[in-house]
Amino acid sequence: MGKRQRDCVTCGAPVGFLDREHCCRCWRRMKEDAARSPCRSCGLQRVLQQDTGRCVLCSRICEQCGHPVRAKDGRLCRDCRNKARRLAAQQPCPRCGRPGYLREPTGWCGSCSRPRPAKKPPRICRECGQLRRHAGLGLCSPCWQKHPGRPFIRGDHLREQLAEPPWWLDDFVAHVAKRHCVSRACGFVTDLGRLLGDEHPNSPQALLERSRRPGRSMGSFARALEDFFTRHGLALPTDQSDRLAAGRRRRRLDAVPDPLRLAVTAFDASRMRAQERARRAGTRPRSNHTLETALSILRDLALFLAAERGKDGWELVDVQDIEAFLNTLPRARKRRLTVLRQFFRFARAQHLVLVDPTRGLAGDEARGFRGATLTLDQQRGLFRRWTTDESVHPHEALVGMLALLHGASSTETRLLQIDDVDETTQSLRLGKRPRPVPMDPASWAVLQRCLAHRDGWRTDNPHVMVTKGTKAGRSPASTAYLSHVLDPCGFPPRMIRSTRLLDLVNVMDPKLVAAAFGMTAESTLIYLADRVDPGALPGPETP
Ligand SMILES: [Zn+2]
Ligand SMILES: [Zn+2]
Ligand SMILES: [Zn+2]
Ligand SMILES: [Zn+2]
Ligand SMILES: [Zn+2]
Repeated sequence: MGKRQRDCVTCGAPVGFLDREHCCRCWRRMKEDAARSPCRSCGLQRVLQQDTGRCVLCSRICEQCGHPVRAKDGRLCRDCRNKARRLAAQQPCPRCGRPGYLREPTGWCGSCSRPRPAKKPPRICRECGQLRRHAGLGLCSPCWQKHPGRPFIRGDHLREQLAEPPWWLDDFVAHVAKRHCVSRACGFVTDLGRLLGDEHPNSPQALLERSRRPGRSMGSFARALEDFFTRHGLALPTDQSDRLAAGRRRRRLDAVPDPLRLAVTAFDASRMRAQERARRAGTRPRSNHTLETALSILRDLALFLAAERGKDGWELVDVQDIEAFLNTLPRARKRRLTVLRQFFRFARAQHLVLVDPTRGLAGDEARGFRGATLTLDQQRGLFRRWTTDESVHPHEALVGMLALLHGASSTETRLLQIDDVDETTQSLRLGKRPRPVPMDPASWAVLQRCLAHRDGWRTDNPHVMVTKGTKAGRSPASTAYLSHVLDPCGFPPRMIRSTRLLDLVNVMDPKLVAAAFGMTAESTLIYLADRVDPGALPGPETP
């Protein structure tokens, strides 16, 4: 060591260098301190590693959790090491398949090995008196399922769950509980809870829209909601029937072969515009049924042209094609020709075709009724079937008897309401007929049978014919139901009704018949044509 020059300014020890104020110890300490800075991880003053920016201890981290690892060659921290050791000791349980420590006595994991709590002993059910397992309120499970208070209990639970229960909730619960079986009503309340609980708006109209299922039917829950909301004036009815009609038109258009489709689509669009215009103007719009029938005829023609005549453009169609198409179904000639004329007139106006191929064609069929009618024996057989056979469905008997004896159309029978039945005079108000129709004893008996069947549904649907699908609402039975209700008797409703009308018109004055049936005079005159089914002529035999 050199000669003492002066004392260290920090500790007072001798300083040997001329140009230093600190002793060697303090000098070294200061030099080391300058290389250190606070570690990001532990916060101590340490020399930081270049690559991690932490001190050497904190630079070693666990591969799994990122915590510091103390040991030089360790890959996992202490916690992760212990966890790995424990996991390695586990084995998949043969009972539940999850990893666990298998217990000696059972060979299963811990939770599987634990003894189950013993089931409570069965009790005598309050309702059915049988010794069964208890489900709730002192009832066995089947009796509890049927308990009429369940929808209300579920409604109470729902009200407690919701932050802002709607004010109509109680009314809705009472509404569905009255009209549906217990389990279905409970299902509806649950469905409603799901809709009310989501993030969307809860106005009745919005709920109704959200409740609809995609597809042909909007679902029983949506129907129940619609029924309830429209009855209470809370929402407008859904546009389900319009949607279904749009779907039917879509399917018909889709079936048209590709090159021919564009014109048919344009035709349909123009017809739809016309319908909308007529609806707004209050004139008589074409019914959906009319529009769909026209599309079906055009679809059939397009398929015929593509398959049989090898034509792939409307401009190629000539009179022979149309004639050949009409001959495939001679009985529908007039109906089809009317639609084809309309279509080709439209196509000419749009410059899709230059010549109207239907122009030279005549709808030359004689006007008049050409359908089949029942023979007297067949009429007698039907009369016996509907008045004496108890196994016949009351709806079949009612539709049949009203058509056979009173010339009622299926629409008139379908829309018949309880209020239209007059008990004192034993008469019915049918459709648009100006006067009530007096019932004969046989028809009256059939009507009573039908009313008894209606009472069995315990419904407040105002119609006489109530089906399983309409008992909960107020709508009439569907047209599809009516078109098949007479299937078991083997004759279509129109044929039975035509028999009666033909008979009446040919025996009485057609004008009288028109007045009595609320028909136009022209529509009864159709039945006065000279071509009459021989069996329908009044013969020498009497029924
Ligand atoms: Zn010093
Ligand atoms: Zn550190
Ligand atoms: Zn770790
Ligand atoms: Zn297990
Ligand atoms: Zn029971």
